[in-house]
Amino acid sequence: MAPSLPLPLDRSPTAPPGFHVLAKPSGPICNLDCSYCFFLAKEALYPGDRFRMSDAVLDAYVRQLLESQQASEVTVAWQGGEPTLMGIDFFRRALDLVGRHRRPGQVVHHTIQTNGTLLTEEWCELLREHEFLVGISIDGPAELHDAYRVDKKGAPTFERVIRGLDLLRAHDVEWNVLCTVHAANQDHPLDVYRFFRDELDACHMQLIPIVEREDADGFQGKERVTERSVDPDAWGRFLVAVFDEWVRRDVGTVFVQMFDAALASWYGVPPALCIFNETCGNALALEHNGDLYSCDHFVDPGHLVGNIMQTHMVELIASPEQRAFGAAKRDTLPRYCRVCDVRFACQGECPKNRFARAPDGELGLNYLCTGYKTFFTHVDGCMRLMADALRRGGSADEVMRILASAPRNEPCPCGSGRKAKHCHAVSR
Ligand code: SF4
Ligand code: SF4
Repeated sequence: MAPSLPLPLDRSPTAPPGFHVLAKPSGPICNLDCSYCFFLAKEALYPGDRFRMSDAVLDAYVRQLLESQQASEVTVAWQGGEPTLMGIDFFRRALDLVGRHRRPGQVVHHTIQTNGTLLTEEWCELLREHEFLVGISIDGPAELHDAYRVDKKGAPTFERVIRGLDLLRAHDVEWNVLCTVHAANQDHPLDVYRFFRDELDACHMQLIPIVEREDADGFQGKERVTERSVDPDAWGRFLVAVFDEWVRRDVGTVFVQMFDAALASWYGVPPALCIFNETCGNALALEHNGDLYSCDHFVDPGHLVGNIMQTHMVELIASPEQRAFGAAKRDTLPRYCRVCDVRFACQGECPKNRFARAPDGELGLNYLCTGYKTFFTHVDGCMRLMADALRRGGSADEVMRILASAPRNEPCPCGSGRKAKHCHAVSR
């Protein structure tokens, strides 16, 4: 954990020691028109707005973020919509402000999430110079990616994304994959994973389930989901298939955020992924005009915490409303979750997805529950092996040797009860 810096004297000590803000300088505006994108509906929040963060808001954001973080390492994170639509000079000003407002001893990291289609040589030089970590949204090989990731004319975008990615690689910019899992790619887990690993040479991947409610306004509402949404059972099968490939050959060389988070839970430390923590509320979203919302998944009128041009970010994050938002993740768990064997790892996942009914009829179960139950139950044995290795001072990749060296007719070391040759010793 990063060491603490003394807080400026006039700042509230009650804010959480570490928090994240996702800044959306162009609000939900994007140059593409991905069918499942929930941000596009958010234009309705600010009718007639141009969705461009002003220099005054930019200055307030950078200054408040840097002066209120207690940890010595701070991440300045940009997202959208498509943040590169702001133009490269906006980011040059942001980087100047970071240099001006950085506190002594403070290390600042930069991240940006982009569809990659607007990247140029000039962009990549800037990203490299400031050591940005760039998240590229890509959903698998062309036929799976292009199912929903289209531009405003409905045209495919895969080639343009790959062109942007090639530019990043040519400039040695650090990047990772953000892959959404939905109806079009949910049944192709190995095609997707192997494409990232073998074709793109990706070392870091995030897998995000698409759960899209049938509301016209995109806010909280109905229990039904669109046909594009991932099916809960398919989500579980997807994770299991990718995990089984990963655990036999890629531990320590490919990092899948969800698997790292699960391992943290088995090891007994809080995962670095809010959806699997008992409480949340420390990852907020900043709109272009300074409005701060409880979370990027709750940018709606009921979760507006305040505006940083009127109230300092620290006060908003420490506010009773925001603390209650974070505690509600734990306090509203349905009974079915509270007695679940894998609750310690799942924690009911994100409240945004808790609109299904539990078998006992209680409302508020996570829509993806069956998938998570399948996944966390399936990985239990391998997670125990990895967590034990870590506790002994070894490394998680020892699990690959253990699985590979198991006699084929003996029970699999993962504890499934099946013979190894029918489990993790099977070759695919
Ligand atoms: S609402 Fe969901 S995404 Fe937002 S902080 Fe909580 S768990 Fe994370
Ligand atoms: S697997 Fe299902 S029951 Fe268990 S904690 Fe997760 S959502 Fe709740």
